[in-house]
Amino acid sequence: MDFHPVIETFEQMEQTSSRLALTDYLVALFKKTPADIIDKVTYLIQGKLYPDYEGIELGIAEKMVIRAIASSSGKDASQIEQLYRQTGDLGDAAGEAMKSKSQSTLFSESMTVERVYSTFDRIARTAGGGSQEIKLRLISSLLNDATAPEGRYIIKFVMGQLRLGIADYSVLDALALAFTGDKANRKALENAYNVSSDLGTVARLLATEGLAAVQSVQITLFKPIRPMLAERATSAEDAIARMEGKAAVEYKLDGERVQVHKGKDRVELFSRRLEKITGHYPDVIKSVKSIKHEVILEGEVVAINPQTDEYLPFQELMHRRRKHGVEEAMENYPVVMNFFDILYMDGKSKTSLAYEERRKLLKKILQTAKDGKVRLVEQTVASTPEEVEKFMATAIENGCEGVMIKLPSSTYRAGAREYAWVKLKREYRSDLADTLDLVIVGALHGRGRRAGKYGALLLAAYDVKSDMFRSVTKVGTGFTDVHLEQFYKDLEKHVISHRHARVDTGMEMDVWFEPKIVIEVIASEITLSPSHTAAKNMLRPGYGLALRFPKFTGKIRDDKKPEDATSIDEVVTMYKRQLKIAGSVKVEEG
Ligand code: AMP
Repeated sequence: MDFHPVIETFEQMEQTSSRLALTDYLVALFKKTPADIIDKVTYLIQGKLYPDYEGIELGIAEKMVIRAIASSSGKDASQIEQLYRQTGDLGDAAGEAMKSKSQSTLFSESMTVERVYSTFDRIARTAGGGSQEIKLRLISSLLNDATAPEGRYIIKFVMGQLRLGIADYSVLDALALAFTGDKANRKALENAYNVSSDLGTVARLLATEGLAAVQSVQITLFKPIRPMLAERATSAEDAIARMEGKAAVEYKLDGERVQVHKGKDRVELFSRRLEKITGHYPDVIKSVKSIKHEVILEGEVVAINPQTDEYLPFQELMHRRRKHGVEEAMENYPVVMNFFDILYMDGKSKTSLAYEERRKLLKKILQTAKDGKVRLVEQTVASTPEEVEKFMATAIENGCEGVMIKLPSSTYRAGAREYAWVKLKREYRSDLADTLDLVIVGALHGRGRRAGKYGALLLAAYDVKSDMFRSVTKVGTGFTDVHLEQFYKDLEKHVISHRHARVDTGMEMDVWFEPKIVIEVIASEITLSPSHTAAKNMLRPGYGLALRFPKFTGKIRDDKKPEDATSIDEVVTMYKRQLKIAGSVKVEEG
């Protein structure tokens, strides 16, 4: 397939802020794409080569890319660097530099999707001594035959800066429309995606074998399953009311969610975002290996004080994240793995078993494990709010965040956030009972002491129904100098020239970002707001909701994707709960 229609679609996408238009462009592109490479095109438009869980990256140094652009555009590296400074994007710099290059059409190979993809793939697979030079040659070979617009996107891709604003859901919509003519079939595609986490394979299966094949996609070892998520409860009464008279109440541990895939001799670990994190917990792997079955299990790894057996907060676990010294970290920051679910065993999915049955099975399986690094999460069965509260008090005493309340009859629904699982967290010291996890979507330039950094960040909550991020506050407090430096660096990669297509706000900002980074904030209250768009018109016409006196807690939730941020519905629930409290307690003025 010629690379040209892909580039054309990218250009169209870059110029629109409308999600409907984005989907239409995708539909048109999918219709033009031969079935046998539709997986590759699907990955490319998402700026990837493989599904995330493969963990395959191009791994090329910026200075190498600059050298490649220089040599194929006939300019000096310093000229490219200057263009880079002017445009702020190396892809744009390449596009500029290559505009004036003389086309060597005589010997140039044609630019096809297959060629571009396989060159990227070779770049990703080249490792070890001298690999940067080889990568440089591979990129140059593409650039030498590329037009300026092609070069621009090749470099954007290589630098991980292809910011087309496409969400997984838009791709699923577009696939359903392109191959079945009916958006309603997205549900079937979504199910297949939820159990395989691989959009490319779903696309290819649909294009080559049709909808029935997609519907029969099953859970497989070493392909992570999109995790089941919990709704938020406002109180123990609320949680119990959502159950059918009886609830399973588990400790809610403050660690990292891990999906463990154990085959005969191989074990892989996946994070909540479904990235491969096998290398992070060698000690857990050792214990898991002693389990006598092939299984997919889910649990929370949490740091522990081995003296007291007390669970420690998330921050302690993060010491494990340092790239070096895993051995040393294992000694200094011991962890335990608390399993809470089983999704697969010896060739069969267990997701359609009821929670109660899965728990029994999980218990039996864990008895075959040899050492104490793996455990079954603490649980009790409760039927009154008092019982929940009592268990929660014990959980908190032991270092947990709160409890998870689960419907005993519920099946495991991959990728779903429903009231079958309900989280009840401890009250924080802030006036609002809970923290919020919000997505950074924009920023104001800093002034005075913060000049050259960002002064405030615009944060958004996630609107699940429309798959949009709607602004709910601007936060400027709670940041240390180190945070400010780090945010500036981390966010640089996500800068875009206009408001992102999935972001909705009434605020004017100096800088806009792709919605990527989730941070935790606390606030004193939630108020009606004419300028923020979270829950707009839901409570009063013309008004949305905003946080008052927001403060960054210091916690970057890099275990959460933007779609895992606090939802609009949760913000509304928090607002209503606050009204209820304010109504029953006399509020002091001043
Ligand atoms: P949150 O991150 O606040 O949305 O809460 C959901 C997270 O709680 C899950 O993704 C898990 O990482 C974590 N968690 C801790 N204990 C449990 C448990 N017993 N069952 C399910 N999730 C748990």
